[in-house]
Amino acid sequence: MPKNLFGYTLPALTEEMVSLGESKYRSKQLFSWIYQKRVFDFDAMTDISKSFREVLKRDYCLDLPKIVTKQESEDGTVKLLLEMEDGAKVETVLMPYDYGDSICVSSQVGCNMGCRFCASGILKKDRNLTAAEIMGQVMVMNGILAPLGRTITHVVVMGTGEPFDNYDNVISFVKTVNEQFGLAVGARHITVSTCGLCPGIRKYGKEGLQINLAISLHAPNDEVRKQIMPVSGAYPMPELMDAIREYQKDAGRRVTFEYIMLKGLNDSLAQANELADLIHDNEIFAYVNLIPYNEVKEKPYKRTEYPAIKAFSDVLMKRGINSTVRKEFGGDIDAACGQLRVKYVKGGNHAS
Ligand code: SF4
Repeated sequence: MPKNLFGYTLPALTEEMVSLGESKYRSKQLFSWIYQKRVFDFDAMTDISKSFREVLKRDYCLDLPKIVTKQESEDGTVKLLLEMEDGAKVETVLMPYDYGDSICVSSQVGCNMGCRFCASGILKKDRNLTAAEIMGQVMVMNGILAPLGRTITHVVVMGTGEPFDNYDNVISFVKTVNEQFGLAVGARHITVSTCGLCPGIRKYGKEGLQINLAISLHAPNDEVRKQIMPVSGAYPMPELMDAIREYQKDAGRRVTFEYIMLKGLNDSLAQANELADLIHDNEIFAYVNLIPYNEVKEKPYKRTEYPAIKAFSDVLMKRGINSTVRKEFGGDIDAACGQLRVKYVKGGNHAS
């Protein structure tokens, strides 16, 4: 079975090339062809000897996922349903911000974390995505952007799946995104988002990466969090705060708390104050990203209206905690993460 070069970090590929008797420089040449020149045909890699190109053609590949459906919103959002070699399907979304093109990639096929508000988790995890399959999502989206003279400038691992439940593949992927001979996306423009797997948070802090960490908190206490996030049973709030403190000590970086505003559940001003207390009492250096909820047909949760979100944000700001309300994208397509795949897999009207 040919090995997919999109799954290698530069050091791993260098090691592999050296083991084949090639020079160390070979891996940089290959990275430059695939990530900088976007050339995926070994025969076109003219500075590599013909005989070694034959080896590459025999033992390696540069396969990318296939586009099953493509939805485009009036605001420029592009949502793709992609099919992997074994038929597994995942969603990938492009969000065009003023500051650049941001992609949200999936890290698993389905998800086992069971967050009650989430469309992605309706379909349980089939398997982890490989590093090559996660990178494939970016390469396919860059293929759509290239003719427009654009390229992905920001990457968030926040699509379907829990990144720290697929730790090694996700870390390998973000390293290649950040690698100067790879996609060369700045570390501060890359974010990994976890629902709160404490061992992963602690390990991530020790990687020596400058890549951002976001934590899906969605509640100011365990009582509310347990209602919507089963992971809080395994990792309750005190342990989560402890893991984040350890991360901050090791990485020296601010974290982002993601907080989906659910009407009548976690959106009161008293809860805003409770959230501020939680952050201050635990001495966490955090920024809070308030997220308007995209209602999902299969779920009972309702969206908090904008003025109430603003009031919640004002409380946090008054308490010295930076907070913003996340810009919404793709309101005219299947906006909630995972909706497109759920529709497709369950046989709905996916190709709208
Ligand atoms: S919110 Fe994320 S972690 Fe939770 S079920 Fe959905 S995909 Fe999984």
